Amino acid sequence: MDSSLPSKERLSKLFDQGVATVHGNVPIARYYRSGEEMIRMADVYYEEKQYEMAYVLLAKFITLFLEKLKIHPQYKNASSQAKAANKKSVKYALSKAESIKFILEEKYEIEHTKWKDEQEKIRALKEERLEQERLKSKHEKEMAEKALLDQEKVQMEYFVEQQRRKQLESERQEIESKFSKNVTVSDDNFPLIPVDFAPPPNIDTLPGIEQGSPQTSRKPTTTVPPIDRSCKPIPKPEISGNKAAPVSAPVRANKYGLKTVISPHDLPAKFMQSVKHNTDKNVETCGILFGNLSQNQFIITHVLLPHQSGTSESCNTTREEDIWEFQELCNGICLGWIHTHPSQTAFLSSVDLHTHYPYQCLMSESVAIVCSGKFKETGYFMISPGRGMSEIGGCSKPGHHPHSTVPPLFESCDHVNVSSSHTVQLVDWRNK
Ligand SMILES: [Zn+2]
Ligand SMILES: [Zn+2]
Repeated sequence: MDSSLPSKERLSKLFDQGVATVHGNVPIARYYRSGEEMIRMADVYYEEKQYEMAYVLLAKFITLFLEKLKIHPQYKNASSQAKAANKKSVKYALSKAESIKFILEEKYEIEHTKWKDEQEKIRALKEERLEQERLKSKHEKEMAEKALLDQEKVQMEYFVEQQRRKQLESERQEIESKFSKNVTVSDDNFPLIPVDFAPPPNIDTLPGIEQGSPQTSRKPTTTVPPIDRSCKPIPKPEISGNKAAPVSAPVRANKYGLKTVISPHDLPAKFMQSVKHNTDKNVETCGILFGNLSQNQFIITHVLLPHQSGTSESCNTTREEDIWEFQELCNGICLGWIHTHPSQTAFLSSVDLHTHYPYQCLMSESVAIVCSGKFKETGYFMISPGRGMSEIGGCSKPGHHPHSTVPPLFESCDHVNVSSSHTVQLVDWRNK
């Protein structure tokens, strides 16, 4: 959370996180459909009070449909119906984003004020410490000056004493010479001043004056203190600097940091059961996966079997509008697709990779489920982000054709959880 920023600046930084990119080889109708999903997801985030997530998603929606999509090669020919519906959604997104903006602005304002107060406290503490240090060094300086003065005083006293002794001695000699003729004086020419006159104090050993040579009786000051392990400082957690604050989200453990997709355990069996007729004839069948977003997880709830035509190694949906209609009906989010391989193993063929590309382009979490009839196996696949996505995105060959295979351009999803506590609903619109 970057509370050091004023709320307006922080909001605009958050808006900038809603990056939208347009791929010319993803059909424009998919973008319009994906737009509706973005609105639904933003609504979920809003309901769950994840305002930042909602705001970023709406920002993405707004930039996509207000500016970016215009460069799509199919933009001029897109259906006017889709355009009209989208116009309504843009209006909705703008007003929703505006209301979230107010909520966030208030929140950021409070956080920023709190941050400023804390900074003020830190500053005051620092100043206090500096003042203490200043006083301490002033005191030390005064003490040193006083010690110097004391030393000078002692030296002066010694000098005066010496002078006094000289004076007395000369007085003594004067008296002596005066009376020498009358008085017999012994050879012991002792002075009148007692001999045990205290010696001049040794300035060097005056208390309070530091000396270079240590006295043997004094304890050395450089003794190493015993190490008290209990005093070992506890490492403090790293506090991040002024980097742009990431949008709050639960910790995700999977490889690419994707949201988890919950796939009901009965999905493959139900699907295989309803398409058995085709599989027996060695004809592929496909279905579209729909679901919803909850607590930052996607849950597959429906499989739609749309109008389609299939062969032994391919399968195509034929009425896009039905898919759209169904999505509206179930108020769902498209989470990928499922298809059969009647006589082959479960994998993604070159055609499958191209079919899956738009799904994953628009939703990184999209899953391609493949059920093998002959080998009784199910795979949950995705195109490998990075290398896989860029190769497929840049390939325009039709039909079955070779791609790089080492390593393959697809992989098993580690963000999919097969759940035994969820069930799926299958809707067959093939003969609608
Ligand atoms: Zn296939
Ligand atoms: Zn290709």
